[in-house]
Amino acid sequence: MIEESYPALFIGGEWVKSNSGRMITSIDPSTEEPWAEVPEASESDVDRAVSAARAAMRGPWSKKITASQRGGLLLKLADLIRKNAERLARLETRDNGKLYKETLVEVQRSADYYTFFAGAADKIYGEQIPYRPDALAYTRREPVGVVAALMPWNAPFQLMSWKLGPALAAGNAVVVKPSEFTSVTAFELAKLFKEAGFPDGVLNIVPGYGKEVGAALVRHPHVNKVTMTGEHRTAQAIMKLAAEHLKRCSFECGGKAPHILFSDADLDKALIVATQSAFRSTGQSCSLGSRLFVQRPIYRNVVDRMTERAGKIRVGMPMDARTHIGPHTTAQQLEKTRQYIELGLESGARLMAGGKRPPDLNRGYFIEPTVFADVDNQSRLAQEEVFGPVLSIIPFDTEEEVIEMANNVQYGLNSGLWTSDIGRAHRIANQLEAGLVSINTFRPIHWMLPYGGYKVSGLGRENGLEAIHDYTEVKTVVVELSEAMPVDPFAN
Ligand code: NAD
Repeated sequence: MIEESYPALFIGGEWVKSNSGRMITSIDPSTEEPWAEVPEASESDVDRAVSAARAAMRGPWSKKITASQRGGLLLKLADLIRKNAERLARLETRDNGKLYKETLVEVQRSADYYTFFAGAADKIYGEQIPYRPDALAYTRREPVGVVAALMPWNAPFQLMSWKLGPALAAGNAVVVKPSEFTSVTAFELAKLFKEAGFPDGVLNIVPGYGKEVGAALVRHPHVNKVTMTGEHRTAQAIMKLAAEHLKRCSFECGGKAPHILFSDADLDKALIVATQSAFRSTGQSCSLGSRLFVQRPIYRNVVDRMTERAGKIRVGMPMDARTHIGPHTTAQQLEKTRQYIELGLESGARLMAGGKRPPDLNRGYFIEPTVFADVDNQSRLAQEEVFGPVLSIIPFDTEEEVIEMANNVQYGLNSGLWTSDIGRAHRIANQLEAGLVSINTFRPIHWMLPYGGYKVSGLGRENGLEAIHDYTEVKTVVVELSEAMPVDPFAN
């Protein structure tokens, strides 16, 4: 039964009918029942949304509103998100299947991301450059212009804040294309955006499928920058489309993070964190510690303890406070996880826990937390992103060996290690090919900390002040101060 219907697109500050006339049905992942519908935009709607964003860039948003006022609007948005957090979290849980206790934190943290970037809005400075004594040279950091933001389904509301926060703080206008699977909370954000008092056209929402609506946005000649969170193959397809106008692109893509346990680690702490970082959000996180490298003297002990811990994880309905992990978001993702479990078995890895649907849940996209031991780092299970609750445990002997295995993968997003040897900790951190390294903790993702990938895990950085760079162009201005006549090379 359709419980929530969003009949119109959000373009130019108005709710407008989609030209396609089609709707996309959203499925509740815990029941497999349709529960919401959103309009599907067409290419002509994309054109309307980009025109509205462009008009905002040529109007009051860039001409009248000061940087401090932009910050003020972002603060109002953050307050409205906090006031509506419980409703937003409930809707997100229905749409995406993530536990309510997780979506509530994600929504509250989104408000914190907007607050952080609100504070940054009037501190986006250029530089004065001592180019010559008789010249004034300075740089301006200007907004890039119209930004197309293509979103994934795994943390829809929170990941919008990672893009909209810095983009709006820097004075850009944005067209958001939410994931075709989870568009609901983008519409809820649009309502709050209007209530906060942003000028028309600064935010526009056009749901639809990637190859149609997403590609139309990327190709549009008046989109100046594309930012996408999703798979690296999608990023590659987008780069090809963006090449025609040499559009600025930034991407947050997948990961296959090495999580390294040395024999001198504080195991009681490390195993709590390793369990959480392998299975949280049903494994649907790019920063998962999905390859657990364990030094040989503690290997058997860690395999036994991780197997026992995984067996105690409660899989269940996402609104139930006792549940530890909920369903996958989509039927396709559940199928993908199953296929990787099959690949793991075929590769000769030892299945220690999980691997099947929980017996008491016969509907919904559920799967048990799964542990494989003795995994070959060269196998597909260890090399490719599963995006499900599947942990690969891999033994190692020496520092050199584990660095070689940790880096021998196409991804480079997140990584971490546990040791009580401070010299070793920094030696390893320097050598890991990843945008984030944690020592004696894992995945400290925060609005203050730049986050992004090496290799196919991404391009550019989100979060921290670093994120502002991806949403600004640098313009250099030089003013001649000397009154002397310029040397005329054509005089004689
Ligand atoms: P996806 O790549 O399928 O889609 C991402 C977005 O791009 C969607 O909105 C989709 O409609 C759109 N899209 C798809 N094809 C397109 C095309 N040809 N042109 C334009 N747009 C197109 O990703 P997903 O399945 O929604 O999300 C899961 C992936 O996201 C995982 O690989 C995960 O690791 C990654 N992810 C990364 C981070 C990070 O911060 N690094 C965070 C969350 C998710």
